Amino acid sequence: MGHDHLPLHVDTQVIHAGQRPEPVTGAVMPPIFTSSTYAQRSPGEHTGFEYSRSHNPTRYALERMMARLEGSVLTESQDVTFGGFAFASGLAAMDCVLELLTAGDEVVCMDDVYGGTNRQFQRVKARSQGLKVRFADLTDTASLARAMTPKTSLVWLETPTNPTLKLVDLAAIATMAKKINPAALVVCDNTFCSPMNQSPLALGCDIAMHSATKYLGGHSDVVGGMLVTGNAELAGRLRFHQNAVGAVMGPFDAYLVLRGIKTLALRMQRHNDSGMAVARWLESRVGHGVQRVIYPGLASHPQHALAKRQMRGMGGMITFFIEGGLAEARAFLENTRLFTLAESLGGVESLIEHPAIMTHASVPPAMRQELGISDTLIRLSVGIEHVDDLIADLERALAAARGAGSAGTGRVRATV
Ligand SMILES: *Cc1c(COP(=O)(O)O)cnc(C)c1O
Repeated sequence: MGHDHLPLHVDTQVIHAGQRPEPVTGAVMPPIFTSSTYAQRSPGEHTGFEYSRSHNPTRYALERMMARLEGSVLTESQDVTFGGFAFASGLAAMDCVLELLTAGDEVVCMDDVYGGTNRQFQRVKARSQGLKVRFADLTDTASLARAMTPKTSLVWLETPTNPTLKLVDLAAIATMAKKINPAALVVCDNTFCSPMNQSPLALGCDIAMHSATKYLGGHSDVVGGMLVTGNAELAGRLRFHQNAVGAVMGPFDAYLVLRGIKTLALRMQRHNDSGMAVARWLESRVGHGVQRVIYPGLASHPQHALAKRQMRGMGGMITFFIEGGLAEARAFLENTRLFTLAESLGGVESLIEHPAIMTHASVPPAMRQELGISDTLIRLSVGIEHVDDLIADLERALAAARGAGSAGTGRVRATV
């Protein structure tokens, strides 16, 4: 009882959750412990740290922080990092989850997922582990019942999806998955939301997964991945596999991601605000160069009600279709000055990209077409610059694009 059990606001948690001063010096930020090994007093008698793949204090600090941000309440005696695990990349984190499965297992995966997720399932694990992966459009909860069987051991979710920003009702899907097979693992890639905007564990998922490369790091200067579970038994299995497979995050990277997380609350607030403003502006240009805008925060999003229920903020990711064809899309992408044409997302700087040619080139063309990842689809990652400057940049690029494709306008490259 008492106020010391009241949960702290998330703005406070991103600074303090799971953190403690370094015991020897009192350093407030964890030192970057580069040592690969640790001295023992007597064989097997050590400080809790033996070898850095298995134990690293800098990595622990990040893992404990993320565990708390994703809502794990595991104690240190249940799991030394409260169910948080850091990896060399988001895809290495995914790989660790798949190592929990047994050769030949059935998997159901959301149809529209990060290109590298699709590739790891289809071009690696289908062969090396014989996983039988079925892709389903889980925006329709009933489609899980059609795709899943009592033998399905993993349901892999991503919401909002990349790049078409479809939503999955996590609570409904997790409940249904457990009904069909209580032993099935439900995993949600929470990269697009970060723990600020969505809490998969609270909605019934077993594991929240992140590419720490994106919003967690937040400065486009580190590649990493995270897993969090609030289940002690599952934490034990993940801990075994993190060490046994070994794609751990290094101490420098752990320090950078932890440093990034200190400003996560501030940054996400700006990403959410500017994302909304840019999406609204783009929608105001429909019929004037923009064909359609997809953003969960817009009333025009088919799952807007679910977005308001499930997400605390709508994020900085926006997808839109430009009027015309590939020529217009190309002209637009070549003419932004603040939005950098680059893969990735979630950094302080705004990025723009063309999924069909760039991030989703590894998705088979037929599947791309089915998902609506067309030549006119453009994805924005709205950064934390002043939103008026960002909108002015898009306005200029849109003007340049409108002259690009159609013959006879005479306005190609007429400006600037
Ligand atoms: C980037 C990304 C990944 C992969 O993470 P890496 O750190 O690049 O390995 C997985 N899922 C989503 C949604 C991503 O954006």
